[in-house]
Amino acid sequence: MIDFASFYQFLATDRLSRWLTVLPAQLHAWQHDQQHGDLPRWQRVLAKLESYQARHMDLKHSVTLGHPDEITVGERSKLENLLQHLHPWRKGPYDLFGVQIDTEWRSDWKWDRVLPHLSPLKGRYVLDVGCGSGYHMWRMLGEEARLVVGIDPSPLFLCQFSAIKQLAGRPGNIHFLPLGIEQLPKLERFDTVFSMGVLYHRRSPIDHLYQLRDQLRDGGELVLETLVIDGGPDDVLVPGERYAQMRNVWFIPSAQALAGWLEKCGFENVRIVDQSVTTTDEQRKTAWMRNDSLAEFLDPSDSTLTIEGHPAPKRAVLIASRCAEG
Ligand code: SAH
Repeated sequence: MIDFASFYQFLATDRLSRWLTVLPAQLHAWQHDQQHGDLPRWQRVLAKLESYQARHMDLKHSVTLGHPDEITVGERSKLENLLQHLHPWRKGPYDLFGVQIDTEWRSDWKWDRVLPHLSPLKGRYVLDVGCGSGYHMWRMLGEEARLVVGIDPSPLFLCQFSAIKQLAGRPGNIHFLPLGIEQLPKLERFDTVFSMGVLYHRRSPIDHLYQLRDQLRDGGELVLETLVIDGGPDDVLVPGERYAQMRNVWFIPSAQALAGWLEKCGFENVRIVDQSVTTTDEQRKTAWMRNDSLAEFLDPSDSTLTIEGHPAPKRAVLIASRCAEG
């Protein structure tokens, strides 16, 4: 079930209440204009999941909801079948009553690279921009964030998140909104804002950094993860029509160039905390994502290049603090 009413109720008495001036109209328009042909089918899947609710959960070390013993073999096979209707599953993995959703991405590996460098999330208000199916949102809750809000315009990801939330017993402090970052008003209330895997999809990356800044309180922490190239402070790749088969890749800076952009956009204490080449173990085709994946996007004779001849995907994690308004 997709229901935003409980979030509005939460907002009414909260430090984020200013959001109520625009959010209900935006989500009403989304529900009204949503033309995705598969949405009614996905919503029927969500309705059928309402009989499942996990008693045991682990969000600290994985996203595990429900022990296999909590349901019968028949119920598990029905659950697996229902979840397969939400294919393709890109971000995970999830263990749901013993059903292992082996997603295209090992999003847990990204979390392991990011987590050691964060200010502890306990008690914090957290925004995850471009949250995908919400895998990292659950891990943020596992770190005892007080509130986790994810935004992502993809209706399939909203349905996947809603399925997981149903199985988790619909906790009241985690919410997914089908919005793009550019639709958020200047809230300036989050303690931590994540933007992971989004910057290279934005046509105006500098505007994206300002939009992220606008969501943080003074001193709040930005966690930025994106594709980078090797190079110095002035190096940026603007690929041609495609990068690793994706049409919507605009700017891939070096990590140092990106650090410079952050300083220009009102961040301080900028740190490059990780750089890693994406492997075909981390991003690959699985039974839950049957389309082409990284192996098919690399040059078959030289895995350091994409099939277009660009440097193969390498990703950096940068952490920075919002400067106080001065
Ligand atoms: N953060 C996740 C998912 C990254 S995939 C991870 O790191 O694994 C990038 C996501 O950004 C996609 O789900 C896409 O729908 C979303 N996205 C694209 N444009 C966006 C925008 N304008 N605002 C917010 N999210 C956006």
